[in-house]
Amino acid sequence: MWEKEFNLTDRNSFGFNVKAENYAAITQIDTLESALADIAENNWPLLVLGGGSNLVLRQYIPGAVISIANMGIKVLADDEDLAIVEVGAGENWHHFIGHLLEMGLHGLENLALIPGNVGAAPVQNIGAYGVELADCFHSLTAYDRQTQSLVQLSLDECDFGYRDSIFKSAEQGRYIIWNVRFKLSSVFVPRLGYKALADYVLGKDNAPPTAHDVYKAVCDIRSSKLPVPTEIGNAGSFFENPVVAEKQYFELKDKYPNLVGHKDSAGLYKLAAGWLIDQAGWKGYVHAGVGVYDKQALVLVNRGKGTVDELTELSEMIFDSVKQKFGISLCIEPRFYPA
Ligand SMILES: Cc1cc2nc3c(=O)[nH]c(=O)nc-3n(C[C@H](O)[C@H](O)[C@H](O)COP(=O)(O)OP(=O)(O)OC[C@H]3O[C@@H](n4cnc5c(N)ncnc54)[C@H](O)[C@@H]3O)c2cc1C
Repeated sequence: MWEKEFNLTDRNSFGFNVKAENYAAITQIDTLESALADIAENNWPLLVLGGGSNLVLRQYIPGAVISIANMGIKVLADDEDLAIVEVGAGENWHHFIGHLLEMGLHGLENLALIPGNVGAAPVQNIGAYGVELADCFHSLTAYDRQTQSLVQLSLDECDFGYRDSIFKSAEQGRYIIWNVRFKLSSVFVPRLGYKALADYVLGKDNAPPTAHDVYKAVCDIRSSKLPVPTEIGNAGSFFENPVVAEKQYFELKDKYPNLVGHKDSAGLYKLAAGWLIDQAGWKGYVHAGVGVYDKQALVLVNRGKGTVDELTELSEMIFDSVKQKFGISLCIEPRFYPA
């Protein structure tokens, strides 16, 4: 089952030169169980790898890397205007969204073109253009390494937050997500709270937008702003958008009237990390083999021969300067592995 010294260079979206000591692609639960038995017997650390688009992988990954390749998209229940759809963790997220569009099932259009696999999507509760996975999530099936059994987890049990869930925080490493269920509607209700999306969709003509219009708009906007990882290595947003107290928001707004942010929940405001980094002068900055993307300051890129050390140096310089200018501590979004 194990492939030794497996090359992961084209399996991480930064395109860093990475090797795994032992690698296996898993399509069946019994193979997963024997892989986990080997891992326990050899006392290997384990990385579950999806599309590698939210990871910063160091040069050598000791122990085991497994990729969950459970495929398939099934409609489990189809009421008048509500359907429950189950999808394998190994399916590509964007292909899944395209498939839903063809089936006439709606709710996730705003999350088109996010790279990666379905199994990783709940880990950080992926979100974009005013929608997040949790909005349409029903439940998931995961292998629980603690009880050594398959379990079903509900929306509440996953404890989703902004780019967060139990899989990223309290229970990191415990669950291996096998498939995910979404509740979707056959009635399309556009979610246009995000201004750039609304301007793009509504600017064209006065007809109400279709699901296809929104899907296409999201793909067009993303393609114009974000680098394609196969061309320029990156992991999307490198920092999370910081959430600050109302008082701090208005103090900053007084000092910087163009500050970009919006009300989040009671007494809290979410700021655009990209704006803060841009204002601190980093857009387009080059540091050895890595840099800050020139069209979007929130995205750090591998310019070809960059290293994880250079990326760490650059992110520390950005962190320090944003802290000094705005008094805000940025949090890194992708996971560094090994930590
Ligand atoms: C250009 C670009 C744009 C992006 N835009 C967005 C965006 O708009 N919104 C957003 O939220 N994210 C965005 N991302 C980040 C990324 O695409 C998402 O986080 C995505 O869900 C990661 O999927 P993946 O399969 O690549 O996960 P990986 O990077 O392989 O893994 C991410 C984490 O999930 C864990 N994991 C993976 N599979 C499983 C599993 N089956 N069971 C348990 N744990 C698992 C891994 O161990 C790791 O901790 C972007 C990234 C890029 C490169």
